[in-house]
Amino acid sequence: MEKILQQALEYGKQYTPIGKVASYIPELHKSSQSDLGIYIKTLDGKGYGVGAYDKKFTIQSISKVIVLTLALMDKGCEKVFKKVGVEATGDPFNSIVRLELKHLQKPLNPMINAGAIATTSLIHGKNGTEQILRILEFAKLLSDNPEVDINQEVYESEIKTGDRNRSLAYFMKSSGVIEGDVESLIEVYFKQCSIEMTCQDLARIGAIYSNNGLCPKTHRQLIPKTICRMVMAIMTTCGLYDASGEFAVRVGIPAKSGVGGGILAAVPNKLGIGVYGPALDEKGNSVGGVEMLAYLADRLDLSIF
Ligand code: GLU
Repeated sequence: MEKILQQALEYGKQYTPIGKVASYIPELHKSSQSDLGIYIKTLDGKGYGVGAYDKKFTIQSISKVIVLTLALMDKGCEKVFKKVGVEATGDPFNSIVRLELKHLQKPLNPMINAGAIATTSLIHGKNGTEQILRILEFAKLLSDNPEVDINQEVYESEIKTGDRNRSLAYFMKSSGVIEGDVESLIEVYFKQCSIEMTCQDLARIGAIYSNNGLCPKTHRQLIPKTICRMVMAIMTTCGLYDASGEFAVRVGIPAKSGVGGGILAAVPNKLGIGVYGPALDEKGNSVGGVEMLAYLADRLDLSIF
C-alpha cells in the first residue's frame, strides 16, 4: 500500500503547480501551494500515509458532511429535507442565483453554501455556542481525535470577509428557509468551516462512513446506517461542487472537498481516505488531490460504479 500511495503522490505532485491556493479567505492564502498528502485507513484498523498527511488544515466545506449527518440525527430526514433539497446544482458552491427562482422554496442541496447554512440552522442547541460545541464534539468523535479544534485565525478571516455567505443567509431568512438570528448562525457556519484536521483525521472519519456508520475501532454505531447511506449518496452527487459529475465518472468514490484543500473520501466497505493539497482548480477542488484519487481509484479498483 505504501508503494502505491507514494506513486499516487508523485503523480499528483505534477499537478499542484497548475492550481491556486484560495485567497478569498485571506488566511487560507498562507498555505503552501506545493503541499500534498494522503492517508488511507482500512476497516481492519491499518493506516498508511504519505506526503503532508500530518499537516493541519481547515476542513471548510467538508464540515458540511459532518453537520448534515448531525442535523439528520437531530431532526430526522423529513424535517431536514423540508428545508434543503438533494439535487445537484451545476452551479458554483457560493452561488445565490437559484435561491430567487420562484418554484424553489429551498436551497438545492446541503453541500452548497446556501444549503449548508440552512442545515447548520437545524442543529440542536439553545444558541450558537451550544450548536458549535455539539458540532465540534461530533467532529472529535468521528475523527477519534479529542484535540480537534477551531483555527481562530481562519475563523476571524472568514468573519471579516464572508459577506457573500452572510447575504445567502439573510436572503434565506427573508424567504423563510431559516429562522432566528442570522449573525449567530453565520458565526456557527464559519466556525464549523474553520475546524482544523489532518488527512489522518479525515481518513478515520471516512472509514466510519465506509463502514455504514459503525466505528471500526470501538464497534459503536456512531451514525445510523440509513443516515450514513443518505449522506454518502449526497457526497456522490454533490460533493465536489460543480465538478461532482466529472469526479463520479472519473473516480467514482463518495467524497467531499473543501477550499482549504482537503478531500474526505469513503469507499464503501473498504476504506476511508483523507487528502490535503491546497492548490485548487478553478472549481475549488484540490487539483493534486483529485489526481491522486483518480490514480488510486484506477490502480486499486475503488470506483463504486
Ligand atoms: N468557508 C467557506 C465558504 O463558505 C467554505 C467553502 C468551501 O470549502 O467550499 O466560503
